Amino acid sequence: MPIKAEPRRSIAQIFEPRRVAVFGASDDRAKWGGRIMHYLALHGFAGEVVPLNPRRDVVQGRRCYARIADAPPIDVAVIAVPAVIVPATIRDCAAAGVGCCVIISAGFAEAGADGAALQEEIARISAETGMRLVGPNCLGLINLRNGMALTSARVLDVEKIIPGHIGLVSQSGALMLSVYNRAHDQGIGFSQLVSVGNQADLEVCDFFEHMIADPVTKAICLHIEGLLAGPRFLQLLERARRAEKPVIVLKTGRSAQGEEAARSHTASLAGAYPVFAAACRDAGAIMVDDPDMMPLVAQFLLANGPARGDGIGVISSSGGMNGVLADRLADRDLRLARFGERTRSALLPVMLPDHRDNPLDMGMRRQEVGEGDAIAPHLVAALAADPDVSVILIPLTTTPNYERTVTALAEALRTCGKPALFIVTPGSVATGVREVIRRHHLTYCDRLDDGIRLLETYLRALPDVGSLPLATVPPIAAPPRSGYLSEPEAKKMLASFGLRVTRERCVQSVVEAGDAAEALGYPVVLKGVSRKVVHKSDAGLVRLNLRDRVAAEREFTAVFSRLKQLDPDAEACIVAEMISDGLELILGVKHDPQFGPVVMVGAGGTLAELIRDVEVALAPLSAETAQGMLKRLRIWPLLDGFRGDPARDVGAVIDALVKLGQLASALEGRLLELDINPLLVRRTGEGAVAADARAVIA
Ligand code: ADP
Ligand code: MG
Repeated sequence: MPIKAEPRRSIAQIFEPRRVAVFGASDDRAKWGGRIMHYLALHGFAGEVVPLNPRRDVVQGRRCYARIADAPPIDVAVIAVPAVIVPATIRDCAAAGVGCCVIISAGFAEAGADGAALQEEIARISAETGMRLVGPNCLGLINLRNGMALTSARVLDVEKIIPGHIGLVSQSGALMLSVYNRAHDQGIGFSQLVSVGNQADLEVCDFFEHMIADPVTKAICLHIEGLLAGPRFLQLLERARRAEKPVIVLKTGRSAQGEEAARSHTASLAGAYPVFAAACRDAGAIMVDDPDMMPLVAQFLLANGPARGDGIGVISSSGGMNGVLADRLADRDLRLARFGERTRSALLPVMLPDHRDNPLDMGMRRQEVGEGDAIAPHLVAALAADPDVSVILIPLTTTPNYERTVTALAEALRTCGKPALFIVTPGSVATGVREVIRRHHLTYCDRLDDGIRLLETYLRALPDVGSLPLATVPPIAAPPRSGYLSEPEAKKMLASFGLRVTRERCVQSVVEAGDAAEALGYPVVLKGVSRKVVHKSDAGLVRLNLRDRVAAEREFTAVFSRLKQLDPDAEACIVAEMISDGLELILGVKHDPQFGPVVMVGAGGTLAELIRDVEVALAPLSAETAQGMLKRLRIWPLLDGFRGDPARDVGAVIDALVKLGQLASALEGRLLELDINPLLVRRTGEGAVAADARAVIA
């Protein structure tokens, strides 16, 4: 096969083709190939469209070719023929020097083994010839700058597409089109959109990389189902951050397979999604869980820049709505701004004296000043000048003089210098009002839930702080042996990395147990050591709070015989110092297949798996990251000193997390799992001690 498509086309070239070929072109708009032709013409595609169809000479007024070989040179061909003839079709394309094929056809890897074989074949053709592929099983791509609408979807049945600055890369075609359509209706413009389908050649990260470099795209939305290369994705996130382009990520497939089978707490508590989310958060990306939030958040960020504070100022036309809103904001820990005296004074000429507090109800105005439109500029100016107001929220129920009032609000808001968000809850009666808001290039949501979610996402998206220095990784002195490390072995490894573990001795006889207890000082703990028994206390192998030699010797006899029953290979028990006053945390490491070593911290104790209070970060991690993890835990107040309880040695936990990150990095992927459960955290200044540990080394 001749190699014609070298050099391989860049994605920028694919989005800006001079000539596009449409396989199966038709005059009939009910047909796929008819609609694609129509949409390209309707939206004024800047390049040339070449129809391909063996049974036609002219399609939609353009000269039609029977074979790609006869057509003039083609940059991008769009193909929706049945899967079985796709390989032959794209082979012809490659031979004709086509730069890229967009394969809409389904029936490939998503459909089963036969389809997977077809997909391998087209991937091979692409690799051998250098001809790029989008798809298969995709819904195409749209470039709103040149009208290159390579999709047959009826979302393009609009008078005018809206060019903008938001890029969208979606693994799901249907989802992309749904998101696109709703955003379009809200007046939100895009730069480029692509549905990547099965990613036989070009994949999410390729388009992500392109959009970071694309000068028109200013914010990037990614819908990701699986991820192909974690390290590359992380690099691109970092690059996007440096380019100051917000990245909004919707990730599905949160439940990782095989986790229930995992042996350690860490693996079951720190699933694949939290690791992905932590990686994104560390890189400054914004996670959303609702597809329609992607363009909304992007638009809001592009219009307003990052949040400068967390106070929300509210102007509404309904006391009832204000009541609902105040409760709902409180539920989400979102804060109503506290108006300053200057703000209240500024409101005095237009509002009733008793109604000058946040949230404002326009109905409580002085009647002599006129209707809502008369006071709107005063209200907006007062809130915009208040230092505690970072966002102005306008929940709109119906109101007299609806459109006039909203026009006055929108005009004032557009130039007030603070972010503003409308929530337009009525139905059709507000159609004109929505139009007014769109005309002023302001953002609105239709439902209270959406508005609150958008606000929350915006206010929690931390402004760029620059990347924090990572902890350096010292070389590891003596690498541990591979396999399952029992408690004493795992603790030895931790101690060699500077983590504090309980003082303890391994004992094999009654006398040794008694001597160890005397040497360590009372009270002591006695436990059986086994590679087989994962939960020692469940198996009756843990005895706490032994207060004298007699107790230590007696419990050794009992535990050791029980141990031998459960695990004939077991040989020893541990006598350890008892840490009586520690708060229990779980610390752990797991190996993520995409992002490598991950450090985890969570609430310990018997309820750990029930309450699932866990934070993760990629290793190695900085002390700042470790501190952030602890502060995001629900049990943070317990560490910080809750209701008269003493504050705990948070510094020691941070130190342990940083060291765990170093350990995980130093072992370079060999540390598959590590649990410290519990880490007993004592009062400030008294440290934190690992009382139990286990590990799996590759
Ligand atoms: P396992 O997790 O295998 O059941 P552990 O060694 O974690 O066994 O012991 C069970 C529980 O006993 C711990 O979660 C902790 O509450 C307590 N414990 C164990 N060792 C100590 C110790 N040295 N000091 C204080 N409490 C301990
Ligand atoms: Mg334990």
